[in-house]
Amino acid sequence: MDRIKWDEYFMAQSHLLALRSTCQRLSVGATIVKDNRIIAGGYNGSVAGEVHCIDVGCLIEDGHCIRTIHAEMNALLQCAKQGVSSDNATIYVTHFPCLNCTKSIIQAGIKKIYYAKDYHNHKYAIKLLNQAGIEYEKIPFSANKIAEFLTKEC
Ligand SMILES: [Zn+2]
Ligand SMILES: [Zn+2]
Repeated sequence: MDRIKWDEYFMAQSHLLALRSTCQRLSVGATIVKDNRIIAGGYNGSVAGEVHCIDVGCLIEDGHCIRTIHAEMNALLQCAKQGVSSDNATIYVTHFPCLNCTKSIIQAGIKKIYYAKDYHNHKYAIKLLNQAGIEYEKIPFSANKIAEFLTKEC
């Protein structure tokens, strides 16, 4: 009996969350997991109550959309808001985290990063991850494989 693996399941969850992104620059999803339980999730979006980029266009400054909170940050902030410890947790992200998110991930005590797609992969971010002893592993996501599981007859 073929079952979906935990890694595939959590990475699929991050890709589902990415579908909720409100900034069209990049659809990113992040899922924070501890002991095979999802403790938080996030996607690229505006601060609560703010307009959405998909409705009014991005707010660009120096080539970046300054309206958006990144998916990883949103997931970490959900932990902070709910009082859930992210220490020793794992994060599943659709894209390799940017430098700022990498710093926050390290500081929040996350110990492993799974990502599906390379995205700039900032050299300094990689240096910091290596220095902190945080593992990062690319696990490509296959929507077709998930679709097979979903359409398989019971
Ligand atoms: Zn935007
Ligand atoms: Zn980021």
